[in-house]
Amino acid sequence: MTETIPQPRSVLDGTRPDADSPDGAPADAGLLVFAPLRIEASAVRRGFTRPASRVQRTGMGATRARKSAEDSHLGSFSGLVVMGTAAGLTADLRPGDLIVGSEVSDGETSIALPGADLLAAELRRAGLNARAGKIRTVGKLVRPAQRAELAAQGFLAADMETAALLAAPSVAAGGRPVAVIRVVSDSGFGPGMVSGGLAALRSLRAAAPVAEKWAAACRERTVLLAGPRSFCAGVERAIEIVERALELRGAPVYVRKQIVHNTRVVADLEERGAVFVDELDEVPDGATVVFSAHGVAPAVRTDASDRGLSVIDATCPLVSKVHAEARRFAREGYTVALIGHAGHEEVEGTLGEAPESTVLVQTAQDVAELSVPDPAKVAYLMQTTLAIDEAADVSGALREKFPLMRAPGSDDICYATTNRQAAVRAVATEADLVLVAGSKNSSNSVRLVERSERAGTPAHLIDGAADIDLSWLSDASVVGLTAGASAPPAVVSEIITALSGLGPVTVTERVTTTESVQFGLPREVRRS
Ligand code: SF4
Repeated sequence: MTETIPQPRSVLDGTRPDADSPDGAPADAGLLVFAPLRIEASAVRRGFTRPASRVQRTGMGATRARKSAEDSHLGSFSGLVVMGTAAGLTADLRPGDLIVGSEVSDGETSIALPGADLLAAELRRAGLNARAGKIRTVGKLVRPAQRAELAAQGFLAADMETAALLAAPSVAAGGRPVAVIRVVSDSGFGPGMVSGGLAALRSLRAAAPVAEKWAAACRERTVLLAGPRSFCAGVERAIEIVERALELRGAPVYVRKQIVHNTRVVADLEERGAVFVDELDEVPDGATVVFSAHGVAPAVRTDASDRGLSVIDATCPLVSKVHAEARRFAREGYTVALIGHAGHEEVEGTLGEAPESTVLVQTAQDVAELSVPDPAKVAYLMQTTLAIDEAADVSGALREKFPLMRAPGSDDICYATTNRQAAVRAVATEADLVLVAGSKNSSNSVRLVERSERAGTPAHLIDGAADIDLSWLSDASVVGLTAGASAPPAVVSEIITALSGLGPVTVTERVTTTESVQFGLPREVRRS
């Protein structure tokens, strides 16, 4: 499947003889800044670090700005950023705070600028106070009553030029990316901004290198989507269990540990009334508690029962299968070598099934140091979210040391882990860079990063588009994109939209297999 997402706003064709170049050199691929006032243009120029960057002063107000943009013959710049001061519209904004336009409106027409979150995050990483938000272009300096009215409409800042600049034919009809960075000056904008404008000008200057970094990341690119990616059947089931518990029993519903390892999922359920706790002693007597998809040790179940808590178990059936194998091997007198990562909740739950008989092995070195009561009675099990090749190294070392070792009845590394690792490998071999949507504590997501790196392609784990460092993209024309089994599909869409703010994006999906696994819900949350 291939789909092209055009950049919604673009710029630039021909050459740029009248941009404000310090040395009069012809325009080169790089950053072009439109700044309305001389003082703003000067602040931006002083912040530049790259010879190819240019500032064009456009003049104050919509009429001058439009004429300046129309008269320009824009050069071969990678991207255009409108930079200048603005009136902050909400009480929490301070002089020097930066607003990156996610949408610019003149009251009649609105222009969406995808990727504003990405640029705002980069400015924050540079130590600046920045956020993405809507900017309103107005005809006159805004008065206090108008500020409140525009704020109520969801605008963060007001200026007098941006909508006119972006609507100019030379800008609107081009093919390259546009961004807007406006800095709040305490006394509004225009000549009067100077009184509160020192902080604003300092921020403009400091924002200039970030704008250059943004321009360096601008290019047409291909996104290779790994398939399958994102939610697995166990994660979908666990989330649905919490949603149904909230619906059937009302908030609050307590959840022991994160229901799945994803900050977005947890934040969303928290907003809807779920309360995440680390241990059962944080749950009030008689309350409903959900056990997470990673499973719990029997001691936790006993504790919940002793406390009279109403338990709904969202343990993934594939994790329950590993627990059952641990109990069976221990019952039969085997020492169970559990291949997994220390401290992971799933590992703690499995270790708790037969603590006297189970030993955790993380590496081949652990295997070398392992001593068991009876080398003829050893079995192994695995955490469900391990890297396939890493786990094979450890199980190989075990088999060499204990040739009679028993294996689990079927693979413990689950279908979702296996499929996502194969899929990311397929895109990694073609990509310059791989982005993996997932949280840092998500084992299967971390394994996807490692899998890509082992295939020779740099990879980064990101919770969302705001975590993308623009420097990763400067040499990346082909970006592989996947998501861990606990990461919502919406994050993938959000990342593609953000990338489309840096130039046209062609999305192609590489499907290595399709999945149809589904798990039933526990009876406590089934609808009659
Ligand atoms: S990753 Fe595998 S074991 Fe974990 S919840 Fe998903 S299906 Fe279950």
